[in-house]
Amino acid sequence: MTPDAAAPPVKPVAPPKLNPVRVPIVEEPVAARTTDFREVLHAYSKEDAVLEAKRCIQCRRPWCVEACPITQDCREYIRLIADGDFDGAARVTLRENPLATCLCKVCYHYCEDSCVVKKKGVPIAIRHLKRAALEYGNSDLAYVPSKPKQQRVAVVGAGPAGLMMAWELAVRGYSVTVFEQEKRYGGLMQTIPAYRMTDADVETDRKRFRELDVTFVDGTKVGREFPFDKLVKEDGYQAVFISIGTPSHRSLSVPGENLPGVLPALDFLKDVNHGVPVKVGKEVVVIGGGDVAMDSVRTALRESHGGRVTLVYRRSRAEMPADPEEVHGAEHEGIRFLFLKAPLRIVGTHRVEGLVVQGMELGPPDAGGRRSPVPIPNSEETIPCDTVIVAVGQKADMTGFGPELDLKLTSQGWPEGKGKGFETAVPGIFAAGGRSVVYAMGSAMDAADAIDAYLSAKRGETAPPRPDPLGGTEAFHRPAGYTAPIRV
Ligand SMILES: Cc1cc2nc3c(=O)[nH]c(=O)nc-3n(C[C@H](O)[C@H](O)[C@H](O)COP(=O)(O)OP(=O)(O)OC[C@H]3O[C@@H](n4cnc5c(N)ncnc54)[C@H](O)[C@@H]3O)c2cc1C
Ligand code: SF4
Ligand code: SF4
Repeated sequence: MTPDAAAPPVKPVAPPKLNPVRVPIVEEPVAARTTDFREVLHAYSKEDAVLEAKRCIQCRRPWCVEACPITQDCREYIRLIADGDFDGAARVTLRENPLATCLCKVCYHYCEDSCVVKKKGVPIAIRHLKRAALEYGNSDLAYVPSKPKQQRVAVVGAGPAGLMMAWELAVRGYSVTVFEQEKRYGGLMQTIPAYRMTDADVETDRKRFRELDVTFVDGTKVGREFPFDKLVKEDGYQAVFISIGTPSHRSLSVPGENLPGVLPALDFLKDVNHGVPVKVGKEVVVIGGGDVAMDSVRTALRESHGGRVTLVYRRSRAEMPADPEEVHGAEHEGIRFLFLKAPLRIVGTHRVEGLVVQGMELGPPDAGGRRSPVPIPNSEETIPCDTVIVAVGQKADMTGFGPELDLKLTSQGWPEGKGKGFETAVPGIFAAGGRSVVYAMGSAMDAADAIDAYLSAKRGETAPPRPDPLGGTEAFHRPAGYTAPIRV
């Protein structure tokens, strides 16, 4: 008898069964939620979170982690939730994600787009499970700094990129000062309506920075209050990270834009969030097709107290860049959508009385692959309205950041360095940002490695990976099975 013949037959391992149906998240009923700014999506109950986590098949190759711009080990926190270990899940979440309280509510969850379960049904609710980890596990942890390195870094701008950079460097032992022109932190997250997240979420995340050597300086616009290069030449910072984002609004550039009743979306959203009185009428038109437009229509609906809100977009629904979840939310709340209409002028005597639009049809695709709108002759019409909210994009304010930096302005407006790790043309000065909260954080993560390498070289050392920010012994590493980043 040969040894082979004696061996027991190998049983084929059945592939794990995919459960395509997601455990639903409870939503506030439309009639109630559109009367105020209460949170629309509720957290999973503990039991539902465990049920949902059990749908994850714990792929050997973690597609979800590869698609997360900050390499959040979501596969691991899901495994811990499935085992009922919420404290462990909270720790894993916070280990790689210093803005987890914000992201568990507003992340566009690129991880879910890559989840294998999506091939058969609805992907694992990775973002909602992050929230469950933080709500039911111990998330009141404090980040722990490494031994001080006696080197100082200035960060300009306290949006997601700036906050990520402050965390990355402070846990490695650098002393960081963050300069912010506003009185509040979080950058554009301050404009996200309270029915999705609030400033308090930013503060919950920032509270975990309490033991780090990070000094926050608010109300200081670098480049206007003092020249930008003073930071290095006089104040002794050895590296600077510019994360100034896109705080200014783009205008429509049509006649009538200065009439009372025309509101830039960023100012409108920020004022509503911070309790500044905003005059919204009963017939509101919002111009735009992105996420800012979606937040504007839904906020205007709540502020109009029973008024009608219409979205005007110059392409068709298929070309709308807004997150489908937000579009669905707006539709559900009764927003009227008018597609293929481009604004020509805003009319009115003392205040807005109407928006004149031109009908459009779709022509060939533009450089970005989206079909371009082409005007239809003699198709003008006037949409009667008393308020127009303009949500057609944001831009950076480059005051004080000169040509010596050779910054690139991205298609969505934020400036970034052209060199490795987002270094600018001036050694030691880096600049980055991002198209979403987690992408901005991902860019800061890359830039932090470059700044650490730059400052370590000054000390004659090589930079090790980021240490465990919660004081453990294991430094940052990609989880088992990780191959390469997937960019969604
Ligand atoms: C209404 C709205 C809703 C959004 N919803 C989502 C969402 O649901 N999910 C998501 O992932 N993303 C969302 N985004 C996008 C997301 O907010 C941005 O991609 C992200 O904030 C970019 O981060 P950042 O750090 O690059 O820049 P920013 O957030 O723009 O932060 C830059 C910071 O720098 C400060 N600053 C600028 N110049 C100076 C200066 N000279 N001196 C000092 N400080 C300065 C600014 O005041 C600001 O605080 C939304 C954006 C908007 C406007
Ligand atoms: S941070 Fe966003 S992309 Fe990353 S795992 Fe969490 S939800 Fe997914
Ligand atoms: S890709 Fe989906 S199923 Fe696979 S580990 Fe990630 S969350 Fe679980």
